[in-house]
Amino acid sequence: SIPLGYFGGIGAASRRGILIKGGAVLDNLRDIRVAAFDKTGTLTEGVFEVNAVLPAPGVSREELLAAASLAESRSNHPIARSVLRAAQAAGSAPDGGAITDMREIAGKGVEVTADGAQLLAGNAALLEAHDITPLPVDMPGSVVQVARNGRALGALVVSDRIKPQAPGALEALRRLGVDVLAMLTGDRESQARPVAKELGLDVLKADLLPEDKASALEALGPARHTLMVGDGINDAPVLATAGVGVAMGGLGAEAAIETADVVILDDNPQRLPELLRIARRTRRIVW
Ligand code: ADP
Ligand code: MG
Repeated sequence: SIPLGYFGGIGAASRRGILIKGGAVLDNLRDIRVAAFDKTGTLTEGVFEVNAVLPAPGVSREELLAAASLAESRSNHPIARSVLRAAQAAGSAPDGGAITDMREIAGKGVEVTADGAQLLAGNAALLEAHDITPLPVDMPGSVVQVARNGRALGALVVSDRIKPQAPGALEALRRLGVDVLAMLTGDRESQARPVAKELGLDVLKADLLPEDKASALEALGPARHTLMVGDGINDAPVLATAGVGVAMGGLGAEAAIETADVVILDDNPQRLPELLRIARRTRRIVW
């Protein structure tokens, strides 16, 4: 095919909705051997559905759903959005007006003060950090544990779908010489493993805190060989660690977009092999 100069390469990419921040990025892309992915919103749609509402003994479904949706009402996390939709469908959508304080804890969940009560919604680690025993849940999916004033109210189970373009994109990356495909996720292993298996990934690191993702990536190879794809508010550090950091342009990902070397606007994983192909066709033009 026709070689492209830096401007040509950047232009060809931008016409496909791939924004490349400078010619050096194109050089770095030619040496990629390891491609690592965050799960949610990257390999999966990032649009969750609530599959189960599991109140603790003595708590009603309505009470659990109301507390969960109030806690999540100001969060942009895709899990939070699914909780809000489920509450709306059940006819109990909070407007969040009662909230006086809200903290988003990256990789864990949210902590909210509403009507003078402290509400928690997030994974088991979030409750444990507050010395609250989470409800035991033995179902596939991500679990949103909910507590009010130090007491567990129950849990919701949510799940996500693999993007239809993901399998083809990963195969194409392998054909382009990427020999390690990895998932680095904050989600729990039981939820991430079926996704990693279905996609034939070589490496799965789950239950990672945002700060652990960077060292997990470093363990996969020297920076010049690594590409990391993420989308979350919490993915900025690992995108900075990678030889090439790629952000998917989803909602609430401003920090990831700012840190990334490449931004994929349409969230389509097929853009990754396209990006590698464009980089290979690009040759430095000496004027
Ligand atoms: P991933 O690495 O898969 O994108 P995140 O780092 O965004 O996952 O989140 C990791 C885990 O933290 C989620 O799987 C979920 O259990 C929990 N979590 C984070 N934010 C929220 C929230 N707003 N509500 C419920 N759970 C949350
Ligand atoms: Mg994420």
